[in-house]
Order: sequence, then structure tokens, then C-alpha cells
Amino acid sequence: MKVIIIGMWNSFPKGMEPTSGYLIQKDGTSILLDAGSGVAASIQKYTSIHDIDHIFLSHYHHDHAGDIEAFMLARKMARQLRRTERNLKIYGPESGTIVKTIRRAKYSTFMPVRATKNYTVGPFQVEFHRNEHPVETYAIRVTDNEGGVFVHTSDSSYRGSLVRFAFGADVLVIDCKLYEGFDGRAEGHMNAEYAGRLASKSDAQMTILANLPHHGELEVLLDSAKQHPVNVIKLAEAGMKIEI
Ligand SMILES: [Zn+2]
Repeated sequence: MKVIIIGMWNSFPKGMEPTSGYLIQKDGTSILLDAGSGVAASIQKYTSIHDIDHIFLSHYHHDHAGDIEAFMLARKMARQLRRTERNLKIYGPESGTIVKTIRRAKYSTFMPVRATKNYTVGPFQVEFHRNEHPVETYAIRVTDNEGGVFVHTSDSSYRGSLVRFAFGADVLVIDCKLYEGFDGRAEGHMNAEYAGRLASKSDAQMTILANLPHHGELEVLLDSAKQHPVNVIKLAEAGMKIEI
């Protein structure tokens, strides 16, 4: 599979670089994980917005789902212009005010996400892990038909179950907006030290730190994570392309 990081900033876009969004493609099928603010614009550098039929939302915080209505409006227009016959499938947690809007939309279909439910989309098998975060939130594991594995933790504090969920990933994206020394447990986030611990214990081949903070020196974030023995670890960049 090919993964393109559309955006990876925490809270709000940085200049023209969006918040959370990961485009995954294989054998003519495209899926998008998260649709944070700025993603609907930037994704058009890589593909037509009308070619995205499946969007998985980890949760409904703005930096992960703020652009979902832009994608829904794009699909409405594409249907009215008869560019496609397909509805946009939006997979996400069942608790959230946006769910009612998605369910009511004529050209979008809501698909509930639960830890016990898997979905198959083209060559991809998609699984979920319930995170520790103030709202219902899921980590997402995508396995392709050749055994390649991509995992995005989304927002969560550190959990042993997340280590097991991410175990053996070819690429593990860890949302990590906190520098070492900040305790993110109350608000359901990992700091850089815990991100490194997760990368190490899950034995991911490559770890990418994302949901990055706007302040401070990001290299410090990376160095904190590297205090644990990890394979390869780097900071996410908008436009980064990865082949798995
Ligand atoms: Zn969140």
C-alpha cells in the first residue's frame, strides 16, 4: 500500500499544512483516515476529492474530523452531476453530534465503528482499538492483501492494549502533541516519552510521530522518544509518502 500524510498538526493547520489526514491507496482503492481541518483542500494535490469513497474518522475532535462536511458536500455535488453513483461511506464512533448530520445526508452513509467490528474495503482489512480519550476514540489498523500493516493511534493515553493492537506494524503513526514531562493522562494524550515506549514495545518497523504541537522544538520531541530502543522513528511531514 501507499500512504500519503496529508497533514499532521495538532489543533489547527500550520500555514497550508493540515491537521490529521492519511490517504492510503492500493489496487485502485483509496481510503482516508481522519479528515482534519485543511485535509479537503490539500488532498487534492494527490487525488481527486471525488475518488475518496471511504473515510474513517478516529473521533470527532476538530483536528481529526473538522473537514468531514466538506467531503460530504463534494459527494453531494458529484452525485448531482452524475460523476459517481456511489455514496460516501463515513466510518466513525456512534457517539457525536455530527453522526446525526451524516445519517441524514442523502449521499453519505454512516458506518459505525466499534472495537469488535472489522471492515473490508477493497484490498484493506480495517480494525479498531478503543482509546483512552475524553470522547469515544479509536486507533485504526489497516492490513492490506499482502500483509502490509499501517496503524494510526490517533489521540490516546498510553495503554498496554494499544501496544498489542499496534504490534508488528510496518508503519506506526503515534499522535504525540506533548513534550516529555507533561502528563497527558487526564486529557487522554501521550507525551513523547510514552510515544517512544509504545514504538519500542510494539516493535514497529517504522514509527512516525504526528499530531505535532505548534510550539517548541520538534527535534526535542523526537529525541525524547528515542530514549527507548526503536527501529526507525521520524517526525511526520505533510506530503510524506511511504510505501509498505
Ligand atoms: Zn482528540
